[in-house]
Amino acid sequence: MGPATLLRRVKPAPFEYHSPESVEEACELLSSLDDAKVLAGGQSLIPLLNFRLARPAHLIDINRVGALDRIYERDGGVAIQALARQAAVEDSDLVARVCPLLSDAVRLVAHRVIRNRGTVCGSIAHADPASEIPAVLLALGGSVVARSARGVRTIAADDLFSGVFETSLAPDELLVEAWFPAIRGKHAIVEESRRHGDFALAGAVRADDRLVLFGVASTPVLADPADPVKGLDPSGDLEATPAFRLHLVRVLTDKAFAA
Ligand SMILES: Cc1cc2nc3c(=O)[nH]c(=O)nc-3n(C[C@H](O)[C@H](O)[C@H](O)COP(=O)(O)OP(=O)(O)OC[C@H]3O[C@@H](n4cnc5c(N)ncnc54)[C@H](O)[C@@H]3O)c2cc1C
Repeated sequence: MGPATLLRRVKPAPFEYHSPESVEEACELLSSLDDAKVLAGGQSLIPLLNFRLARPAHLIDINRVGALDRIYERDGGVAIQALARQAAVEDSDLVARVCPLLSDAVRLVAHRVIRNRGTVCGSIAHADPASEIPAVLLALGGSVVARSARGVRTIAADDLFSGVFETSLAPDELLVEAWFPAIRGKHAIVEESRRHGDFALAGAVRADDRLVLFGVASTPVLADPADPVKGLDPSGDLEATPAFRLHLVRVLTDKAFAA
């Protein structure tokens, strides 16, 4: 039984399954198919499909694309390719040496079994406002490389996150690599969640004097360390009221800058 047949027997709405073996082939599929989604680690997309919160007509599984899982040093930072798993980044001596803030952040994402499949680039493309990795990318002033049949472009983190689960990546673009600048100064990532491995109710990333908050707005946001709640209007839910989230922001900022 092929993967397409198997996938049709579980809960998602029907879709066409594609399994390209090169970046070029993946980009061709993205440019020629309407309503297609990339599948990387599947740790966010598969639950969305199963609950039918996403119903793409086509799924482009990039897991068979060769030579797309490298973690390497470039331009004074570390580049993480699209199929590098979060667990590989967590275990990487290079990342620990060049960008220890990223190593610390990845350890806060879910549980190891999820990090064995989930990718750093998938977390960035998914753009959950409560995610740690997009916040670190923004705090460090990193960037991503997007490929399509039209060409290649680099998008700065400042221009990437545009809303809840929204980025400035075009529908035909594949995020092939994320680049995190080296951090030599003071840095910290702190968050509050109900249980270990849960998404954060609120979190703060410090990179030198830069502060980025996550879980308190529709995207990760740059904030003033001297007045971190200025301009913030977080939403409330069953787990935290807006006032509690603002309280957490003050406490977490103090913690991040005391570290
Ligand atoms: C129980 C549980 C707890 C979790 N807790 C956390 C947490 O605390 N913090 C956190 O940040 N995350 C958490 N996650 C999410 C997890 O880290 C995901 O791995 C991550 O959000 C997405 O990475 P992925 O590789 O699995 O992407 P997928 O699920 O495969 O894809 C996610 C989205 O990104 C798109 N995408 C993926 N790769 C690319 C690419 N290369 N180019 C273009 N688009 C792409 C997909 O089309 C899809 O829309 C949790 C998940 C679970 C199941």
